[in-house]
Amino acid sequence: MKTLLTETVIQDGVRRIAQQIAHDFRGKRLTMMGVMTGSVVFLADLMRQLDFPLRVGVVWASSYRASTTRGELVVNTPMMPSVTGDHVLLVDDIFDTGHTLDRLLKEIRKCGPLSVHSAVLLRKQGRREVSLDPDYVAFEIPDEFVVGYGLDYQGHYRHLPYLAALEPDDMAKWPS
Ligand code: 5GP
Ligand code: MG
Repeated sequence: MKTLLTETVIQDGVRRIAQQIAHDFRGKRLTMMGVMTGSVVFLADLMRQLDFPLRVGVVWASSYRASTTRGELVVNTPMMPSVTGDHVLLVDDIFDTGHTLDRLLKEIRKCGPLSVHSAVLLRKQGRREVSLDPDYVAFEIPDEFVVGYGLDYQGHYRHLPYLAALEPDDMAKWPS
């Protein structure tokens, strides 16, 4: 595996966007909504950098994608906290094609929030397929399959405190 972002670099990036988020939402009713499971580490670090009252919830989304077809995105909205009258900040690990965030933002808008914004740890360059862009991005990365800091391959590697690009040898270790 090749390390892309060290633990120290990630923490600096998280602090940087936390400052932007604090500047924009301090004093407002804010619910941070983490997209499970990939955002779990980012969500935990980001929320602890915000020193004003806010609420935290999660939403579950997963896409079952084959190599050639666009995967069906399954969203579990019944588990979402109520956000009527709140500003919502959707927090995800990575913006790749953007379909996941696009779909989730639409679902959340149906619940009557005051506003909906999005924050991602990573944005992959040259992959976007939707008109939406995330409002807060900590890092731009090249188009490689990455793991660590919440991101997995077959459920592995989420616990790594750094971000790494997977190489074919690493993938071969965990056959599906
Ligand atoms: P999108 O809908 O933007 O194409 O994909 C977003 C989702 O795909 C992310 O939330 C993440 O779960 C998954 N994903 C996209 N790229 C990567 C990657 O490089 N590594 C991992 N582990 N997951 C990824
Ligand atoms: Mg995800």
